[in-house]
Amino acid sequence: MRKPVIAGNWKMYKLLGEAVDTALTLKPLVANANHCEVVIAPVFTALKSVADRVEGSNIRVSAQNCSTEAKHGAQTGEVAADMLRDVGCSHVIVGHSERRQFYGETDATVNLKTKAVIQTGLTAIVCVGEKLSERESGNAESVVKTQLKGSLDGLTVADMERIIIAYEPVWAIGTGKTATPEQAQEMHGVIRRSLAESHGRDVAEATRVLYGGSVKPDNIRSLMDQPDVDGALVGGASLDAESFAQIVNYKV
Ligand code: PEP
Repeated sequence: MRKPVIAGNWKMYKLLGEAVDTALTLKPLVANANHCEVVIAPVFTALKSVADRVEGSNIRVSAQNCSTEAKHGAQTGEVAADMLRDVGCSHVIVGHSERRQFYGETDATVNLKTKAVIQTGLTAIVCVGEKLSERESGNAESVVKTQLKGSLDGLTVADMERIIIAYEPVWAIGTGKTATPEQAQEMHGVIRRSLAESHGRDVAEATRVLYGGSVKPDNIRSLMDQPDVDGALVGGASLDAESFAQIVNYKV
């Protein structure tokens, strides 16, 4: 059985005090959510304070990015995965479409970051997803499969225990346009079959595949009803503790 994961990506929102307030408000609201893992991803500068405040609760903390380099060194502006573990992170989001689109991240970069995360003993939430033009031209499936293959290149079966995939169609991120549950299920099936080809059936069956793209309290249930949707990566609707808690508590 795959335990669902509901993760909130706070992107470049919230000053330190706001991030801590949101985390503290969220804590009691999701305290009984035993049906899923709850993850929040604040900005770098809020990670330690948020992690300290949620310690001992069922909320885990994720970074939104990390360096391709595991080794400390002259890498101005970068943050290594073990520095994230050091401040209380258990997860790191890698290859988010905003990083691919605005910061030139390629599958090769995502692959290096994913390896750095795994080597540090953290879990990587690896994002894949097609653009609108790619869907309209009928290439969504091949785009996602290529991203998946490149991002996970060289990972062993054991490494895959530390991988969560997030399928986030770019046309659905922050647009209010959600993939229909059927569209999500279809691509999640493609992803699971692709994982079976690359790492075997057991890995494919065990790997959580999250959906991301305008997930809200009123559409989470129909998405979670799909057999291959194992949770959600939530952007906008995770910024407000009450609305994120409603998503986490979709089952309650
Ligand atoms: C995201 O940033 O990963 C995301 C899915 O955003 P939103 O929920 O706002 O579409």
